[in-house]
Amino acid sequence: MKTIGLIGGMSWESSAEYYRLINEEVRQQLGSTHSAKSLMWSMDFAEIEALQHEGNWTELTEKMCQAAQNLERGGADFLVICTNTMHRMAEEIQARVRIPLLHIADATGKEIASKNFNKVGLLGTQFTMKQQFYKSRLTKKFGLEVLIPDDGDCQIIHRIIYQELVVGTIKEESKQLYRDIIRKLVEQGAEAIILGCTEIMLLISSTDSDVPIFDTTEIHAKAAVNMALA
Ligand code: GLU
Repeated sequence: MKTIGLIGGMSWESSAEYYRLINEEVRQQLGSTHSAKSLMWSMDFAEIEALQHEGNWTELTEKMCQAAQNLERGGADFLVICTNTMHRMAEEIQARVRIPLLHIADATGKEIASKNFNKVGLLGTQFTMKQQFYKSRLTKKFGLEVLIPDDGDCQIIHRIIYQELVVGTIKEESKQLYRDIIRKLVEQGAEAIILGCTEIMLLISSTDSDVPIFDTTEIHAKAAVNMALA
């Protein structure tokens, strides 16, 4: 079994889900007392989100590269970044280590393409929804057309992530707001919805949508186990 190097703490609410899902999947595949070999480098999310909102991607990239190098030195065989947003600097991270990075958009795109969907709605932070690093990867590598909510709805999605989900607050009214936004994306032609932020699965599940939901946390965690056991 390979050792998974997790860059987490963004936020720890979702990193805890990664840890649980990875270990459950190893037990599922290998049985009985088996569990995953892993290392986690966990960030202080207050520092991360402050730099994100300042737009200081240079310093964020440096922090992420150092975390990756620390995990490589610690014995990780490959890297998993436990957030969609922080894949913005995936290429820079990969360039600084010898071990491979299992990209969350690749794991997700592969899963969606295997089910023959073409047009998907993307929910995530404003960085993930509005910038190109994530959407263009899904389009270029997997031929997916990616729809995002309108500006007002993007702000709602983002605010609920940063003010509620990353601090473990789950509110029924926020769930309803997400459901409405999902419904609008489906009306615009989305055949499936990507939960493109690793905390959204704390709020939304397949019962909140009329079309299939692709949860990046679950897909990425399972892909990590498959890579570890390959
Ligand atoms: N975990 C989130 C994501 O998947 C948001 C927090 C972050 O900015 O890393 O994008």
